Amino acid sequence: MQPFTYVLPENLSQADAAARQPDTVLKGGGIDLVDRMKERLQTPARVVSLLPLRAELGGIAVEADGGVRLGALATLAELERHPALATPALAGLREAAASTASPQLRNRATVAGNLLQFTRCWYVRSEAFRCVHGGRGPTCLAVTGDNRYHAVMGYSDCVRVHPSNLAPPLLALDAEYTTVLEGKTRRRKLAELFPSDPRGQAPEHTLAAGEIVTALHVPPQPASARTSYAESREKQSFDWATTACAVRVVLDGGVIEAATVVLGAVAPVPLPRPAARLMLGQKPSAALFQKVADAAFTGALPLSQNGYKVTVGKAIVREALERATR
Ligand SMILES: Cc1cc2nc3c(=O)[nH]c(=O)nc-3n(C[C@H](O)[C@H](O)[C@H](O)COP(=O)(O)OP(=O)(O)OC[C@H]3O[C@@H](n4cnc5c(N)ncnc54)[C@H](O)[C@@H]3O)c2cc1C
Repeated sequence: MQPFTYVLPENLSQADAAARQPDTVLKGGGIDLVDRMKERLQTPARVVSLLPLRAELGGIAVEADGGVRLGALATLAELERHPALATPALAGLREAAASTASPQLRNRATVAGNLLQFTRCWYVRSEAFRCVHGGRGPTCLAVTGDNRYHAVMGYSDCVRVHPSNLAPPLLALDAEYTTVLEGKTRRRKLAELFPSDPRGQAPEHTLAAGEIVTALHVPPQPASARTSYAESREKQSFDWATTACAVRVVLDGGVIEAATVVLGAVAPVPLPRPAARLMLGQKPSAALFQKVADAAFTGALPLSQNGYKVTVGKAIVREALERATR
């Protein structure tokens, strides 16, 4: 690892000022960032740790409007067990947190860090490869290389996938995020955190240099809202998803009156699917869920080694829908 200056801010305005210095990166739990620094994929001059700001940026709380605020530094372990999330409407978020990595990692990993972690593409994450997204070459090597874990849809010139477990359920819940930059606070839809055209040379998120995510906000949910999260992976724990799906449904008298389906791990960004609309005004049924799962993968263009993701991904969509409507 290259030497760097480690900054421990005492408050958010100090962090804001420090984060705007050249060649500076922010650190939450450090699981992804330190890994990349050890691999020399990132060699910043300064690292600003946000962990001293737990009082301002941590915690989980019910907001005045009944929504839930997740501090940027709230850990995945806190999401799993916090009473504010113990409702059927937020089950998908709990399930997504609980199926991430291992208990040790969940005790350390933060909400913002999970959303902003770098892709796991092995070409991007090894300095030995001249790949476009890693900034070391002209093309995406996975297109013609070992692409078993890569994208099957939503890609153009780079087939990396977005690895975050939390992104699909938070998008399904229409969450928002708050940031601070140069003393100014902004609140936006979570969908705006991810690029609309995730090309090889595009960063994985839309934050400005030095912009600090301070919290996520889950809007209040109707009593009949239900969410769920399902994923496939090669190992039972300590592994990333090969396909993932978060679902939100609102049922009225046994009929689906609102529905959202978001896919994870199959595209360079988490992918809301318009197929969810097929459920509106319908009663839950296996036939309906099969139709939605098929439609969710419309337009998929698997690569040479990852056709399985379409088959498995459809089963995962069905599983998420069955769980949400059980
Ligand atoms: C063996 C293993 C298995 C794993 N399995 C999974 C899995 O199944 N699903 C999954 O989702 N993840 C998985 N992970 C990844 C892990 O969940 C992430 O690395 C972790 O959530 C990152 O959180 P962090 O707080 O450590 O982020 P950091 O490493 O501190 O930061 C990650 C990125 O976010 C930026 N950042 C952090 N906080 C802020 C902020 N407040 N504002 C602006 N920028 C910020 C940093 O600059 C950095 O670029 C796995 C990791 C390991 C090691």
